[in-house]
Amino acid sequence: MPSIFSRIIAGEIPSYKVAEDEHFYAFLDINPMAEGHTLVVPKHEVDYIFDLSDEEYAGLHLFAKRVAAALEKAMPCKRIATAVLGMEVPHAHIHLVPINKEDDMNFRAPKLQLSAERLAQIASAIASKFE
Ligand code: 5GP
Repeated sequence: MPSIFSRIIAGEIPSYKVAEDEHFYAFLDINPMAEGHTLVVPKHEVDYIFDLSDEEYAGLHLFAKRVAAALEKAMPCKRIATAVLGMEVPHAHIHLVPINKEDDMNFRAPKLQLSAERLAQIASAIASKFE
């Protein structure tokens, strides 16, 4: 059965897309730690990030770097933090989270409750800065 992220990439489940190319897809996390919390995934479904081929692994990180640059422009912050967990969704992905202090990247903290309108605004602001 395809992962929830494969179903998002296929358009079967809606997402707030921020960037896409032939091999990779970036979209807002539905339970964000901060405004702009983005997930970057390979279209090729592989559970564990270290099982990606060298080419896919490098490509995913280079794509994430471009998304992070757009994110930083759209959501001013001190830096973009990155994390890879994969404890919930078995489809490799990189979390990109705009932070101003260490505590802003806390997977145990209560998540933000953002309206659909705000999520759409954020996604569109990031997408407009993606190069
Ligand atoms: P992890 O697998 O890295 O531990 O966490 C998976 C992340 O995916 C979580 O931050 C969770 O909020 C996010 N997530 C899970 N299901 C969905 C979904 O259907 N849509 C979106 N946009 N994000 C999701």
